[in-house]
Amino acid sequence: MNTYQGRRKQKSKSDKLVNLIAGSLLLAQTFFGGSSVLAQNKGNDYSYSDLLQGIETGNVERIMIDPSTNTAKVYLQGGDEKKPEKVTLFYQNTELIRKIREKGVDFVVDSSAKNTTAIINGIQLGILLMLILGLFLLIKRSASGAAGAMNFGKSRAKFQMEASTGIGFNDVAGIEEAKEELQEVVVFLKNPEKFTAIGARIPRGVLLYGPPGTGKTLLAKAIAGEAQVPFFSISGSEFVEMFVGVGASRVRDLFRKAKESAPCIVFIDEIDAVGRQRGAGIGGGNDEREQTLNQLLTEMDGFEGNTGIIVIAATNRPDVLDSALLRPGRFDRQVIVDYPDLEGRLGILEVHAANKKIAPEVSLRVIAQRTIGFTGADLANLLNEAAILTARYRKEAITMIEVNNAIDRIIAGLEGRAVIDGKQKTMTAYHEIGHAIVAHFLPENDPVEKVTVMPRGKSLGSTWFLPDEEQGLETRSKLLADVSTTLGGRAAEEVVFGYDEIDSGAENDIEQLTFRVRQMVKEWGMSDLGQFNIEDGEYSQDLASKIDVEVSKIIFACYDKAKQIIQDNRPLVDHLVDILLEKETIDGDQFRKIVEQYSPKLTKSPVLTK
Ligand code: ADP
Ligand code: ZN
Ligand code: MG
Repeated sequence: MNTYQGRRKQKSKSDKLVNLIAGSLLLAQTFFGGSSVLAQNKGNDYSYSDLLQGIETGNVERIMIDPSTNTAKVYLQGGDEKKPEKVTLFYQNTELIRKIREKGVDFVVDSSAKNTTAIINGIQLGILLMLILGLFLLIKRSASGAAGAMNFGKSRAKFQMEASTGIGFNDVAGIEEAKEELQEVVVFLKNPEKFTAIGARIPRGVLLYGPPGTGKTLLAKAIAGEAQVPFFSISGSEFVEMFVGVGASRVRDLFRKAKESAPCIVFIDEIDAVGRQRGAGIGGGNDEREQTLNQLLTEMDGFEGNTGIIVIAATNRPDVLDSALLRPGRFDRQVIVDYPDLEGRLGILEVHAANKKIAPEVSLRVIAQRTIGFTGADLANLLNEAAILTARYRKEAITMIEVNNAIDRIIAGLEGRAVIDGKQKTMTAYHEIGHAIVAHFLPENDPVEKVTVMPRGKSLGSTWFLPDEEQGLETRSKLLADVSTTLGGRAAEEVVFGYDEIDSGAENDIEQLTFRVRQMVKEWGMSDLGQFNIEDGEYSQDLASKIDVEVSKIIFACYDKAKQIIQDNRPLVDHLVDILLEKETIDGDQFRKIVEQYSPKLTKSPVLTK
């Protein structure tokens, strides 16, 4: 495992809210998943946000939800019983569900499709009702011999089949490593016999993981396109809203059809929705999910020798997957599809600029430089926005004006994700180089593996270290070197920009090192306090303040050391920052090479030679 030091954006209030509501997502999906109506308020006076506020303030007496139209009738306290307010709901009403539960508001599920009315207090019962209702409809339908397709939920969970995707590797840019790793799959699909003849092991399952919009679906389609095989796809999230047993039978259907069309690709998007750790219990066990997952595993295990089917799954949450999925013979090949770097973004822009009229003075490289943190989808979106603006301004070709305008719009829409520019980027570069340089000059430290100012989630940049093979006991000097390294980021900020300019990006570092140093003092007897273990809650006020004194002594000493190293190597630090800002990522070997080859004389004022 890697260790890393990330520099983070401060947590905002809305982030916390997101965490809070994430838990009810699955539940909400189950409930309203049937309809994909987007919330649009058809000129109602009472809006979705009014509803949320009404519940909050206790103004709402009860709510009648109609899943078939995805609307709600809201009865207000003291309001006219005959004239409830009408609100159009969202596809996923996470916040609403949470609020209803929190405040214990009465709510009714009344499907106009099947006038069943029951007043139920609590969402769990509501779901049960929906399930029964759905099952009833299902049985009625199949009994009347309707052509198989289940209409309830608009049969969104039926898989799709594309005989030919029409997408090739040329349409995918910026994720070269992933592409390379998957070349072999293409070769295999084109010519399975060759592989079997030499007894080569073919992967059955490939897991693509990475942030949304980085091109996972696109890549899967490109594999099918390159190999000229059919592409079957289905999304895991669609199973979650289905009725027990249906998901599993869909999986069976899917694989039966796939076998008939082999060689082919089966693509399972959002596999985390079905493939979560079993028994992790979000809103209680989900039988449907587990059955679907089990069926999927059974199908994959059932491939004999070479069926010619390759299953590709995608997720942005590989951490929640059931370990059974990752076992040999299943998704044992895992490929990361990550944010593109500068060259990658340039490549993606080139792909998407190909079919657009762009003014000659527009430099795609400049756009790539300005769009750190953008995914492939963001970049595609950016050029589309620019094209739309160009049409609106009645211009012939996209100019930098439209591009800049579009960049601003997209950045505004990337709320919660770290996108950095200008001074913040420079600050982050100094911060990360600070970690790396301090680590480098303290011999006890693990070698630097990578320094990057590529944002990842909430982190603006990060420095990675390669720990020793044998992770044994930690010596005091190694621990102190660690603490200095962790402080290297903040130290660089202070040395370069001054004490007044340091920012909250070091929160994570400071949290981490405080914990470490307290351990040193309290558990490992590594301070002037002496060699004893101090158990929590069992010490006096006096001892507590002594501990604090020891902790801060250690931290101050380490901080001084970090600042010293940065001051002593200031020109080198500046040089590294310049390179990092240009390349966005420096790997460990490059880093060491730059440091070793650096000679301050070379960059100082030109040497006068006679
Ligand atoms: P994901 O499946 O990872 O969420 P998608 O494959 O659905 O992302 O990407 C959405 C769209 O964004 C693609 O159809 C394509 O237009 C664009 N896109 C994303 N990544 C890339 C890429 N690496 N190269 C070219 N276009 C991309
Ligand atoms: Zn840091
Ligand atoms: Mg996708």
